[in-house]
Amino acid sequence: MRAVDLIAAKRDGETHSDEELGWLIREHVAGRVPDYQMSAWLMAVRLRGLAETEVEALTDAMVDSGTRLDLRDLAPVITDKHSTGGVGDKVTLVLGPVVAACGLPFAKMSGRGLGHTGGTLDKLESIPGFRVDLSAEELRAQVRKVGIAVAGQTEALVPADRLLYALRDATATVDQEGLIAASVMSKKIAAGTTALVLDVTVGEGAFFRDVGAARRAAELMQRLGRRAGLSVACVISAMDQPLGRAVGNALEVEEAVRCLEGDGPGDLRELVGVLAGQLLLLAGRASCRAAAERQALATLDDGGALACFRRWVAAQGGPAVGASLDLPQAPVRAQVLADSDGWVGAVHARSVARACVELGAGRELKGAEIDPAVGVVLRVAHGETVRRGDILAEVHAGDPIAAAKGVAIVARAYTIERRMPAARAIVIEVMEYPEDGRRHRECNGHTGPIVGRE
Ligand code: URA
Repeated sequence: MRAVDLIAAKRDGETHSDEELGWLIREHVAGRVPDYQMSAWLMAVRLRGLAETEVEALTDAMVDSGTRLDLRDLAPVITDKHSTGGVGDKVTLVLGPVVAACGLPFAKMSGRGLGHTGGTLDKLESIPGFRVDLSAEELRAQVRKVGIAVAGQTEALVPADRLLYALRDATATVDQEGLIAASVMSKKIAAGTTALVLDVTVGEGAFFRDVGAARRAAELMQRLGRRAGLSVACVISAMDQPLGRAVGNALEVEEAVRCLEGDGPGDLRELVGVLAGQLLLLAGRASCRAAAERQALATLDDGGALACFRRWVAAQGGPAVGASLDLPQAPVRAQVLADSDGWVGAVHARSVARACVELGAGRELKGAEIDPAVGVVLRVAHGETVRRGDILAEVHAGDPIAAAKGVAIVARAYTIERRMPAARAIVIEVMEYPEDGRRHRECNGHTGPIVGRE
């Protein structure tokens, strides 16, 4: 086989065989298909798409590119959550402890921020001492002892995804349904997850720009999961403005802690409740969606999730339970002011993300240093009223020049309208795991539309 022939075939809209995809991934990971050929193939896929048989074969080839973890000896259900990417997305920091506080083991291999979306590992590493380089054995021991562990991907687990993701990021080929589905599901299959909830984000701050595309990708990932013996529930959520109010690593940890204390922004709390509720349903810990979400949210109000979070942080090298988290603070703060009266119609997620990358909170190049303290805190968000001169947002920066740049970008992220905008829902659609959709159909009192897949 030759890579150039596969590139030409995809360029011309042909469908690859399982053998061809297996060969391409194996040869790329072994260094025998160079980045420039893989990049050309990725662009051909971005333009021509992948058939479902190709996504299946690609997922299998990616899983087979490394080793697999098996955590089933720890508990019959091992939970995990994955987001297809967002701005201000600190859900894992809250949801993991919520789920663990409900008695379900939570084990997650996480990524770093690249491009406009933030990475959970960078957020966790803003906590002094926090280690994300857990070995497979350390991860296993911690899940057994503390009920939750989040680690960076090891060299051994799905090396094909690490290589492909870096190339996709640098070649504008991330936002392709089949590539996203194979990337997400290969990691989850290899990491030994048995019950998975996916937060499939949609909007200008996400890779999916419309609900139809997000739904198609979600259904595809549910089918890939089913094929590998994983139960997968999906929540389609809005990512047109940042989630919560804080964007930037330590600032997001601070906001997550407020949510764990039973406070914090409503959209974050609601999304955590819905996602965690789906995991409780998948694990058979609740009889209907309303009960599952109540059980999850109760751990935020009774201190159970916060206690889990503190044990988790201490177990991974952060401050001991009871000690201050000692999060880093940026030396300069600057305010973004409203230049007219009205309602906030939009806070464009990509512009806020752009400001954060400029400030040093995110990286444009793989491996670049980031500043854990800097970022943006929104003081007002969609639907709130402002008067000229009010504070719209606060920029946390390393120096006054960076602060001025950040202020200019964040000012452009806001749209102030003369009329009150239509209400915005954070949870757009819940796609329960197919069997659960049938089982829970009679459930009353849920907080949003359920789309049960028959
Ligand atoms: N998250 C992933 O893990 N992979 C993608 O391709 C996109 C989002």
